[in-house]
Amino acid sequence: MIKKEKKVLLNPGPATTTDGVKAAQIVPDICPREKEFANILERLQCDLVKIVHGGDDYSAVLFCGSGTICMDVCLNSLLPENKRILVINNGAYTSRAVEICQHYGLSYIELKFRDDELPVLHEIEDALLKNDDIAVVYTTHNETGTGILNPIREIGALAHKYNCISVIDTTSTYGMIPIDVEADNIDFCMSSAQKGLMAMTGLSYVIGKTRLIIESEKYPKRSYYCNLFMQYEHFIKNKQMHFTPPVQTVYAAVQAMEEYFFEGEKNKFLRHKSVNDAIHNGLKKLGFKEYIKKEQQSGLVISAIYPDDKNWSFNDIHDYCYDRGFTIYPGVIRGTNTFRLCSFGAIDASDIHDFFKTFEAGLKKANVEIPVKYIAG
Ligand SMILES: *Cc1c(COP(=O)(O)O)cnc(C)c1O
Repeated sequence: MIKKEKKVLLNPGPATTTDGVKAAQIVPDICPREKEFANILERLQCDLVKIVHGGDDYSAVLFCGSGTICMDVCLNSLLPENKRILVINNGAYTSRAVEICQHYGLSYIELKFRDDELPVLHEIEDALLKNDDIAVVYTTHNETGTGILNPIREIGALAHKYNCISVIDTTSTYGMIPIDVEADNIDFCMSSAQKGLMAMTGLSYVIGKTRLIIESEKYPKRSYYCNLFMQYEHFIKNKQMHFTPPVQTVYAAVQAMEEYFFEGEKNKFLRHKSVNDAIHNGLKKLGFKEYIKKEQQSGLVISAIYPDDKNWSFNDIHDYCYDRGFTIYPGVIRGTNTFRLCSFGAIDASDIHDFFKTFEAGLKKANVEIPVKYIAG
């Protein structure tokens, strides 16, 4: 039933999945109100906490939606009355968090940094010192727009020093870069099944300190469908998600979880790294420049800068590669034209070698000069 043709997705999610995960969706029809399904969800939640080494103090709360639902849930659910959120913003995904704050009319302070630089810790501390009404410190781990990796452990430590909770968007690192919520000073993190877990879209999860989830019952309820405490409580009381879960997507996630633990945290990290190294080397050989300094990169997303060549067209090279099974992705950086190559998903370095053969052939066909040229140096 499954077409075996392999597609290599280098876009920032959904990621390439294994045949095992694809096949896991074909199951007998089941009503998700049945105990059999409740047991599956309960185990999945435990495993989701295990991936970030959460232990007994943490719980996973499931939502039916793409990754942004978790950003929405955390921001709208975890802010006490008359308090503010400090948003540490150095890129497109944290800018989305700012938009969510604006949409709900939440009180927030945006601390903005350049998108090609790490947030400055003493400026964060200054903001926390000057504003004692901050209750939530929010930032993104791997800023998927550029591929910069933010110092979340240090930011979390600052949050705790000033009695704030830390909420970290780990959507594009969870299950790929090892995370230890205790050691990394994370109170809440999040992800979506189609990213690090290499499963299907439609299932997302917040992992957070149970004590803080329970405390948030007192906070203003700003959403009905997307409230963290309500969803948490409903599962504790009824062993069900509040509303219809993405049934087949859950089965795929269960299979992906099994494959995750079979591959192992360290091996998976090293595989993603080897894919990233292969992308880096392939770009370098063709003369492409990268937007973020190598030592600040997450190792999961590379933003390459468009060459200065009248024959270069992102859309043309995209289409050439897409027709041959490789998907590349445009950038989101304002002021610099970039495209992104991500090392998510069930791929390895040999897929990248194949990709670069195709990519180079596409450049040659378009008469783009190789190595590619840049006007300024
Ligand atoms: C992918 C991603 C999201 C969620 O995006 P969706 O399109 O809603 O799945 C959120 N934050 C980061 C950092 C991401 O990489």
